[in-house]
Amino acid sequence: MALSGLPKHPTQNAKLEQYVTDGNVAAQWLAAIDMEEPFADQAEGIADLGAGNGILGIGALLLGAPRAIFVEVDAAACEALEAGLREHDLSQRATVLRADVREVEDALRGCDVVVMNPPWGQQRRSADRPFLEAAAAAAQRSVHLLHSAGAVHVEPWAADCGWVARRWMEAQLPLPRTYAHQQQRRGSTPAAMWWLRRGSPSGGPATAAQPC
Ligand code: SAH
Repeated sequence: MALSGLPKHPTQNAKLEQYVTDGNVAAQWLAAIDMEEPFADQAEGIADLGAGNGILGIGALLLGAPRAIFVEVDAAACEALEAGLREHDLSQRATVLRADVREVEDALRGCDVVVMNPPWGQQRRSADRPFLEAAAAAAQRSVHLLHSAGAVHVEPWAADCGWVARRWMEAQLPLPRTYAHQQQRRGSTPAAMWWLRRGSPSGGPATAAQPC
């Protein structure tokens, strides 16, 4: 309920592919992550890239993440995000970077976990690529990614970087009305969640990671 009640993402800029995560999907996904690797244990904090109204990072903070860095390029979305943080008294544990994800490598370095629903690259080819690269460079432990259910590049991309990606959840993402008309009037779009971890599938030592 807390996540569904956050100030809404303004979703005005189609070029930025602002397909937002709805409150129920976010809550179920974050609760599942929290069961496996509790947010409260992520001492170096978490990052939410392409944060929008911050629904994922705010959810992680509500579940006990000690701190969160949010990266969002859209000024109006950042305002909604900051309002949501204030409403839940979370501003002290949050850093909001109004920036392009390609420009914040240093600020992100060393966080434990990245949780993100970035642009999917459907409007602009490979728009998700800088997000994957920033997440892999930043996260010490794991990356949780929500992406189009049709995405087939996540596992091979991760393998090239010395990460292992497991597709472990699926969801129907309600489309905001602003975009629904572009999608043959479908009210939702299929999404999936990947869990990326450093290292080999056998659990052995991490392979020498390529700079991804
Ligand atoms: N994470 C939110 C928003 C998803 S939509 C949610 O799950 O609801 C993707 C977000 O990425 C949008 O808010 C968009 O403005 C932002 N974005 C797109 N390109 C960006 C870039 N290069 N750098 C930072 N943010 C970007």
